Amino acid sequence: MSIQSETQVVTQSTTQTDDGEHERFTHLVLEGYTPKDGEFVALENSVVAGMVNATPVRALCGKVWVPGRDPKKYPLCPTCKEIAESLGWSLPNA
Ligand SMILES: [Zn+2]
Repeated sequence: MSIQSETQVVTQSTTQTDDGEHERFTHLVLEGYTPKDGEFVALENSVVAGMVNATPVRALCGKVWVPGRDPKKYPLCPTCKEIAESLGWSLPNA
C-alpha cells in the first residue's frame, strides 16, 4: 500500500498498557486515510474500537496490543516517530 504525500492520514496516539516494568511509550496508530480525491478509507485499526472491543491495534512500529482505557502520558515511541516523519506525516503531539 502506498500513501501519497497529498493523502490525509488519520493517526491516533495511544499508550502501550502492558503490565510489568517494561518501558512504556505512546505509539502512533494509523486508523485510515483520505486520498486526495477520494473518500476516507478506514483501516479497521481503530484505537477506540480496540478499547471497546478489546481487539488489538497495530502501531506504525509494528507493535500490536490491545489499547487501554486509561492512557497516560508517555514519551512518543521513537520508532513510530521516525516512521511518521519519514512519511511526512504531522505528529499529533508535535
Ligand atoms: Zn511505536
